[in-house]
Parts: sequence; C-alpha cells; structure tokens
Amino acid sequence: MLIDGRKIAAELSAELTGRIGALGSAPGLAIVVATGDESTAWYVRSLLRTAEKLGISARRLDLPHDADADAIRAALAEVSAQPDIHGVICQTPLPGGLRLEDVGSAIPPAVDVDGANPVSLGLLASGSADAFAPATAAAVLKILDHEGVDLTGRRAVVIGRSNVVGKPAALMLLARHATVTICHSRTRDLPSVAREADILVAAVGRPKLVTAGYVRAGAVVIDVGTNATEDGSLVGDVDTAAVEQVASAITPVPGGVGPVTTMQLMANVVRVAESRPRDFHD
Ligand code: NAP
Repeated sequence: MLIDGRKIAAELSAELTGRIGALGSAPGLAIVVATGDESTAWYVRSLLRTAEKLGISARRLDLPHDADADAIRAALAEVSAQPDIHGVICQTPLPGGLRLEDVGSAIPPAVDVDGANPVSLGLLASGSADAFAPATAAAVLKILDHEGVDLTGRRAVVIGRSNVVGKPAALMLLARHATVTICHSRTRDLPSVAREADILVAAVGRPKLVTAGYVRAGAVVIDVGTNATEDGSLVGDVDTAAVEQVASAITPVPGGVGPVTTMQLMANVVRVAESRPRDFHD
C-alpha cells in the first residue's frame, strides 16, 4: 500500500487553518536564505505559498551568497528577536561550506521550528516535550501515527545519521519505545540489518539504495530521500515498485514525506504562536 503524504498534509492543513483562525492574528515565519541554489529557491517559494494559504505571515530574508557565519548568525538572531516572528528557518545549503550546526545556535530554541540549533537536538535527546525536531524527522513520526503504526517494542531501523533527519528521527522513535538501530555508510551488511526492521526509515540520499532484499515482509517503509534524476524528476532512496511488493506500507517520492514536512513546519510555527504571545521572548 502506498501512503498518501499529500492527503495527510491536506488533513493537517485543515486543522491548522482552524487553529490559526482561533489565534486572532497571523503567526509569523522568517526564512533566511544565503544561497542562489535553484532547487532551494523552488522549495522556499513553495513554503511561502503554503504559509500564505494557511494565513501565516511568512517573509524571506535574502543574504549575499558569500555571507560568512557571523553575518548569517547576526541575521538569524535579528529576525528571531522580532516580536511578530514565531518561527525562524535557516535555509541550506549555506555558503563557503558552512554547516547548519555552525550558525543554527543563533536561533533561540523557542522559535527554532526546523530544529537547526544543536541545543534543540539536545533537548530532543533528553526527552523535553518543548523541543522542536527538524520538520522532516517530525514528519516521519506524523506519518507513522497517521497510519496507526504501533511503535512500542517494535524494531525500527533508520538508515542515515545526519543531524537533520536520521538522528532526530531515531531519537523520536526511541522516545516512542521502539527498539532503534541507526545505520550509516560504515554499517556492515546493511541489507541484513535493514531486514530486522518492522519500521524502516531511509534517509540517505542514494537513489533506490533500498531494494526488496532490504525489507522484511510486512514492514512499514518511510522513504525520506529526495534525489534529482537527470530528467529533472525526483526519486527516493527506495526502489518503490519492488519494495511495495514486500512491505505492508510505503511512502512514495514525491508525494510522501515531502508534503508532510512542509505542513509540519507550519504546525511548529502555529505551536509557538499558540504557546506564547510574541512580545516576550528569550
Ligand atoms: P546527509 O547529511 O548526506 O546524510 C546521509 C546519511 O546517509 C549519512 O549518515 C551517511 O552516512 C548515510 N549514507 C550515505 N551513503 C550510505 C550508504 N551507501 N549506506 C548507508 N548509509 C549511507 O543527508 P540528509 O540531509 O540526512 O538527507 C538524506 C536524504 O533525505 C537526502 O536525499 C535528502 O535530499 C532527503 N531530505 C528530504 C527531506 C524531505 O522533506 N523529504 C528533507 C531533508 C532531507 P555517514 O554518516 O557515514 O556519511
């Protein structure tokens, strides 16, 4: 069975529209962009469109494409302090080989709606209910919950250990009492480790790495990968057609994790707006 991420996102959108209406004023989102990368520009436009449809006031702050860490940190700190802003995103890729971890600490955890601050990851690891996980990792859990997948005591295998997807997804699965294994490029005999999974999450960035031989019969497979092909289309990390024959459920690419991620980001902005008026802020 294919899991319809667009349908899940539409349901979340309807819920958020109601919650935003009840707030009485538009929540604010700021997206800091320091790249001319075309696929990033497309993604940011899509975020701005989604925000507008929901009634979130989103603005984009463009920095020079050669901005250094200090300039990016200063911009993030400045927008984070604005009283009408409830969420701040630092768009990647960053210039000059900077990593998100190098600048993300300038976003206070309270408005860190895409989990860019290493402190947010630490809060997540320590089990804090206030922590914001990166939206993609949160989307993985959202999908599993939507599909009624029981996590307690079950074997989850996450392929990928990045701070933005693999690690936080694994932490969230652990917090929900799954028995979690994290795999990466040095994992020995990946297919046999992956076959132990009741829930298999692929967050690698290698087109169709996960074939039917990686998947136990009846497993639930969440494909986070987004890999551009030469013809401009998008494929995941999983060979969907082959794995669909073995798995009980699988997210397609596109139309799986992506749309839920966008809506999860918006949900995080609404959560901040609901939890506190933005005229006080640490
Ligand atoms: P990343 O930072 O490049 O991390 C990739 C991870 O995969 C690393 O931990 C790496 O291991 C591991 N890996 C690489 N090759 C492997 C192999 N052959 N076998 C096993 N593990 C391997 O990527 P990311 O930012 O986490 O993103 C992962 C994928 O998700 C990408 O396709 C990205 O485009 C996609 N993504 C999608 C969304 C969405 O909303 N749908 C959002 C973010 C990212 P090492 O640590 O050992 O190098």
